[in-house]
Amino acid sequence: MDIELGSEDLAFREDVRGFFAENAYKAGEDYNVWRLEWFKKAAQMGGWDVPKWSKEFGGPGWTPTQHYIWEQETATATLPWDMPFGIGMVAPIIMAYGNEEQQKRFLPDIRARKVNWCQGYSEPGAGSDLAALKTKAVLSEDGTHYTVNGTKIWTTMAQIADWIFCLTRTDDSGIKQEGITFLLFPMKQKGIEVKPIITLGGAHSVNMVYFTDVSVPVENRIGEEGKGWTYAKGLLQHERTGLAGISRSIVALEKLKEQASSVKRGNGSLMDEPSFRAKVAELEIDLMASEYTELRSLASASAGSAPGPESSILKLKGTEIQQRIAKLTVEAGGIYSAAWGRGVGHKFAKAGMGGYLASRAFTIYGGASEVQKDVIAKNVLGLKRSTT
Ligand SMILES: Cc1cc2nc3c(=O)[nH]c(=O)nc-3n(C[C@H](O)[C@H](O)[C@H](O)COP(=O)(O)OP(=O)(O)OC[C@H]3O[C@@H](n4cnc5c(N)ncnc54)[C@H](O)[C@@H]3O)c2cc1C
Repeated sequence: MDIELGSEDLAFREDVRGFFAENAYKAGEDYNVWRLEWFKKAAQMGGWDVPKWSKEFGGPGWTPTQHYIWEQETATATLPWDMPFGIGMVAPIIMAYGNEEQQKRFLPDIRARKVNWCQGYSEPGAGSDLAALKTKAVLSEDGTHYTVNGTKIWTTMAQIADWIFCLTRTDDSGIKQEGITFLLFPMKQKGIEVKPIITLGGAHSVNMVYFTDVSVPVENRIGEEGKGWTYAKGLLQHERTGLAGISRSIVALEKLKEQASSVKRGNGSLMDEPSFRAKVAELEIDLMASEYTELRSLASASAGSAPGPESSILKLKGTEIQQRIAKLTVEAGGIYSAAWGRGVGHKFAKAGMGGYLASRAFTIYGGASEVQKDVIAKNVLGLKRSTT
């Protein structure tokens, strides 16, 4: 689907395409050198290295349509590897709730991709019900530092992270959403232990993180003590919108069609088989509906609104669609998908199974699907919680 783009937007799209083509990775280049150089050049374009940052903090200050164009173009271009936790997660919180000194201290290194961050929210017993978290932070009598004790779980990339942004409990006397405090601290210090969790596909991306008497200077607290829930909540809606990946799914679906067309069936291909075609068609329809939802959310963003409950619809549908594409890719790979570790048969079958196994987590992190349905029921459909 194409939205009507004005001449300025079309010119912007050409600039983006030109930039991606000119700065594409070339075989044989040192990846890390290319990566940092790419971000530097993107910064010289007027903040393209931090597309979602506001102008005030050095971002491009794009219109929602420009953001949409960027998303669409990044779905087909190869961008350098980037972790979302610094640029996309902790930076917006520091901008919105951190003091000037914290902004000066943290934002330049985040922007230069010098520091890797991880997100310490979930705990054993506090995932969907995040406000039940128990990791304790106790302020010293002289008010100079907190002592943190507790356990975090599913902490993505904690094994390479330099810093963590962490929700801690400083008070448990009131309702559970109160008394949560937002702290930033280095990962490489006494009292922090990281243990890997190996996921279904054999990958190591998530971890358990244990804190034993970790000392955190009070200057590393974002905003007020006990107000961390408010700060974290605003971010979750942005995180959910980002996880929907609609533009990437459009590209992935086209790829799936090509792959299925390369699988022979009788005189034709798998794509000629009515049952497979029907599944692809259903996906295409749902994807188009999600794209319209994304455009609706774009329209409200143009009018100045923050992401609302539609971010839950996008997260729910977008991640389900990603899983369905991954599942059909495995189906297209047939028996070769089962031998994915060995890489026999169709070339795509090897990556297909890995992608499918990894995709099982998409409907869990960033807020599980059932929780998104609760949000939609309450805030979109206006349903009341059953009392029975
Ligand atoms: C790959 C991966 C990476 C992650 N990365 C991070 C990270 O970097 N940092 C971080 O802090 N966290 C991370 N998480 C954690 C993630 O946010 C949680 O897994 C998620 O919030 C669900 O919590 P839980 O695992 O405790 O499951 P639970 O909350 O125990 O849920 C279990 C089941 O119960 C259902 N359920 C729960 N509540 C309700 C309800 N009210 N109504 C109906 N059904 C309900 C859920 O949908 C789910 O099916 C990651 C998770 C995964 C899988």
